[in-house]
Amino acid sequence: MTASNALLETVKAAYARYEQEAGEFLHEYTAAGNQVYCGAGCFGCCNMPIRLSLAEAALVASVLTPEEARKVERHARKVLHNARTAPDEDEYVRRHRLKVGYCPLLGADGACTRYEVRPTRCRDTFSAMSAVYCQEGTWEGMTKPERREYQREVRRTPGTDGETHFIAPLEALSEPVWERCSRAMRREWNLEAWGDFWVLTTLAARPAFMAAIARGDKGAALREARQAGLEHPELIEFA
Ligand code: SF4
Repeated sequence: MTASNALLETVKAAYARYEQEAGEFLHEYTAAGNQVYCGAGCFGCCNMPIRLSLAEAALVASVLTPEEARKVERHARKVLHNARTAPDEDEYVRRHRLKVGYCPLLGADGACTRYEVRPTRCRDTFSAMSAVYCQEGTWEGMTKPERREYQREVRRTPGTDGETHFIAPLEALSEPVWERCSRAMRREWNLEAWGDFWVLTTLAARPAFMAAIARGDKGAALREARQAGLEHPELIEFA
């Protein structure tokens, strides 16, 4: 039992819509003289924690080879270990970036090997300033004057929210993707499941887990996750 084609097509359609709208925004943004610092081979954000819907995870799981799925599961178990041992959210993120490390779907050339099905969060993260600011340790390594200069530069840069160097409207454009995933899960499963990218992608490939999801049986799905050693209250959440 896996997700239906209808559900996977809904996710793909939501992504296609996002790509079109984001493309239009980027066209206008760059035509106005602004620069986007992301591009092929830039992977500074690929060691960040990623949250997504089970609908999106099911799409990723549907295309992975057995070897890729094994790598994703190994990563998921490192994510779980971090979630179970990190003392707080900041340390969780720091360890995720430094110790859990880069996404196993990142290729040796620095490009995403599953670009066509990458999650919403991977799609909507664009930098309006040098990609060095996306790298773990950059902010921590800055002196106080450097941090003040960074904040001034962020406020001067069009498209940011004034707090960080990411392009805020492109993040906002992903809201309809989340909403479409939410509705599709409700329609298909009578529940919503959200959580960690690698944990949910691993679970989405497990027939017993997905059979419980298809029945709308949250308790059975959690039992399956527990049996697989993949349960965590913040890495898998039901609504
Ligand atoms: S799915 Fe692709 S873009 Fe997203 S974190 Fe992994 S390698 Fe990076």
